[in-house]
Amino acid sequence: MFTNDKKITAFKNKVWLATPTMHGEELKWMTDAFNKNWMSTIGENINEVERIAAGKIGRKYAVGLSCGTAALHLAVKIAGIKRGDKVFCSDMTFAATLNPVVYEGGEPIFIDTERDTWNMDPLALRKAFELYPEVKHIVVANLYGVPGKLDELRAIADEHGAVIIEDAAESFGATFKGRQTGSFGDIGVISFNGNKIVTGSSGGMLLTDDAEQAARVRKWSTQSRESAPWYQHEELGYNYRMSNVVAGVIRGQLPYLEEHIAQKRAVFERYKAGLKGLPVSMNPFDAENSVPNYWLSCMIIDEGAMCKQVRGDTEASYVAEHGKSCPTEILETLAAFNAEGRPIWKPMHLQPIYKNNGFVTADGNGKGGTTTDVGSDIFSRGLCLPSDNKMTAAEQDKVIEIIRSCFN
Ligand SMILES: *Cc1c(COP(=O)(O)O)cnc(C)c1O
Repeated sequence: MFTNDKKITAFKNKVWLATPTMHGEELKWMTDAFNKNWMSTIGENINEVERIAAGKIGRKYAVGLSCGTAALHLAVKIAGIKRGDKVFCSDMTFAATLNPVVYEGGEPIFIDTERDTWNMDPLALRKAFELYPEVKHIVVANLYGVPGKLDELRAIADEHGAVIIEDAAESFGATFKGRQTGSFGDIGVISFNGNKIVTGSSGGMLLTDDAEQAARVRKWSTQSRESAPWYQHEELGYNYRMSNVVAGVIRGQLPYLEEHIAQKRAVFERYKAGLKGLPVSMNPFDAENSVPNYWLSCMIIDEGAMCKQVRGDTEASYVAEHGKSCPTEILETLAAFNAEGRPIWKPMHLQPIYKNNGFVTADGNGKGGTTTDVGSDIFSRGLCLPSDNKMTAAEQDKVIEIIRSCFN
């Protein structure tokens, strides 16, 4: 690990990956809920944030739920995924993208990642339909705020009459060809988790243009009560509705979405400029067709500049080498200086829990281990950098210096 440069001292205040950024209006709307005694899962704040989010994303209906994972669960249910169904899922993503498929007894088949946006590879998806022509559902995430190749994925889905669930948990506010992410799937999902671009401390939403779907999801989320004088149940219910207090936080945050994106973008641009000359590049996106929300700034080390790195199931080690580095060295060094980075989402096909699930790459042979496996490669060479929108330019310059030192 880098230790010999006396000029760099540890951060006194920890530099975080991504933390909530409050503005004051959050408290106003929480207090409003308190004063009106709508301390419940009903109230004006929920109605307002549903209206605003649906309008922003360009969907007819938004249903406020307790978290993004709950929204994905009800998305999986409303999309009709049932026990034994195979479902094509993003491979390099947070497990919450696809765990809900398993809640319903479905079987995720993981689709490899492409290098242009680090999202689901349309070529691999096409291959997957050759191998599993019966599949009718796709769950696709837009990673780190970067829209995937949503038009190509949609075209392939349409050829096979498949439904798309779009996990836009990380990409709220990002656009592809002028349209908001969350509007490309038959069903979209966003999250207001504490580290997302805007937050309610928790919370999520399901987005759809289908009135019947929206009504049904709303009913499921509030324990599936039928309209009757007593608790009458015809369907399984869930306690997944958004709290009106949480909705107050979100209501205060939503006006700042674009400001947060601008701040995150400045962070990304500063890294891009500051890391110039090193054998690394920032996480890629299609600059012609998409505007990311820059939720997390990530970088990937050139193949030839990787020092030896070994990752087991729960531990990593590396051998430092002049002129080279690796995510483990950079993450450990950042941590030693009190800054928080994070590895790239470890691909699902490498996770012990999913070791028996299918995995399809652009040339089909995902499980053989002899062909291209883009996700594993990005995982081994990439990392997420401290991306907090409250990080000062001076703090970020120091983060950049620390990263540079790893290549000394
Ligand atoms: C955060 C996240 C989720 C889950 O959202 P929660 O609100 O935390 O439940 C799902 N998918 C992705 C890609 C995420 O980053």
